[in-house]
Amino acid sequence: MSTAIDIRSVVKRYGTATALHGVSLSIADNEFFTLLGPSGCGKTTLLRCIAGFEDVTEGEIRLFGQNIAGLDPNHRPVNTVFQQYALFPHMSVLENVAFGLKMKGVSLSDRTARAGRMLEMVHLSAFADRLPAQLSGGQQQRVALARALAPEPKVLLLDEPLSALDLKLRQAMRVELKTLQEQTGITFIFVTHDQEEALTMSDRIAVMSQGRVQQIGTARDIYEAPVNRFVADFIGETNLLEVTVDRIEGGIARVTLPGGHTITCPTAATTPGKHHISIRPERLSISAAGDLTATVERVVYLGTDLQLLARLTTGEEFHIRLQNSARAQVPAPGSTVALHLEEGAARLLAD
Ligand code: ATP
Repeated sequence: MSTAIDIRSVVKRYGTATALHGVSLSIADNEFFTLLGPSGCGKTTLLRCIAGFEDVTEGEIRLFGQNIAGLDPNHRPVNTVFQQYALFPHMSVLENVAFGLKMKGVSLSDRTARAGRMLEMVHLSAFADRLPAQLSGGQQQRVALARALAPEPKVLLLDEPLSALDLKLRQAMRVELKTLQEQTGITFIFVTHDQEEALTMSDRIAVMSQGRVQQIGTARDIYEAPVNRFVADFIGETNLLEVTVDRIEGGIARVTLPGGHTITCPTAATTPGKHHISIRPERLSISAAGDLTATVERVVYLGTDLQLLARLTTGEEFHIRLQNSARAQVPAPGSTVALHLEEGAARLLAD
């Protein structure tokens, strides 16, 4: 697969503040790639550097092999969809979608035909003659998408494009966006702080924090094999426990748990000593012989699942999720339970 974007050691400073501390990553052509991280981690800055709204302080960005430094935003083969999609209020939906094509000098008949096809793709053909104000928020966002796709950019940058929509619409749009990306074959770079959004749509995700990429991988990679505490904690729910690592060999660590039990687990760390492990709440079962012992403090009924808040005998708070079923044996608050870690449930973290 060819590379669409190569970001090499990019540093971005605003005066004395550093927004990006040497970011390197490669995005493949046709990939749905997401930059995920909390507010202020630098994801929008990186997107703006790719778009050409900002210059990088150090490093370089290559688009399809070409260094784009100094290339005007209008001359880059990229287009952007923003959270505030700002349609032209006095133009019809069709005119809005055709606008970018008009600017490029595409003839009236060609741009009308292409804008019509784009509206079909986002299921808005019936709304071509309306004004933006006569559409719902979700429909307006789809017009903005059609408008950005109409000039057929090689790369589409999407900066939190769903965050202004309500939950139901957001969920529906996730599916539509993914389908659109597959249909058009355009490389999508999607920015969000919403981990569920990232997990459901992306081929790969870069998890960012404080101007640095913490981990790059598929949704499964970053959920099941987080490299450090930040990623383990930011993606989904987890239990972080301090442990002693006795030995590491061939990517497997021998670890002593709080309470004294010993287990082996895959590891991102390379040296013995004190480290943390991450244990997902759903990768445990209550059994006669356990690896950890805990007292149940609270049981929360969540429909499909039961959430148990417990405390290990060594004092740490611990979260457990059990699947709800007719046969589910729910321990009562106050009872002491033995917790069995499923194969591969624990993951030793690098820091
Ligand atoms: P959000 O989700 O809140 O948009 P983000 O992850 O996109 O956050 P950025 O907007 O990229 O974060 O900001 C990264 C850092 O750079 C922040 O600390 C921010 O304050 C700083 N920053 C961004 N733009 C500027 C600017 N024009 N001048 C000075 N500092 C800036």
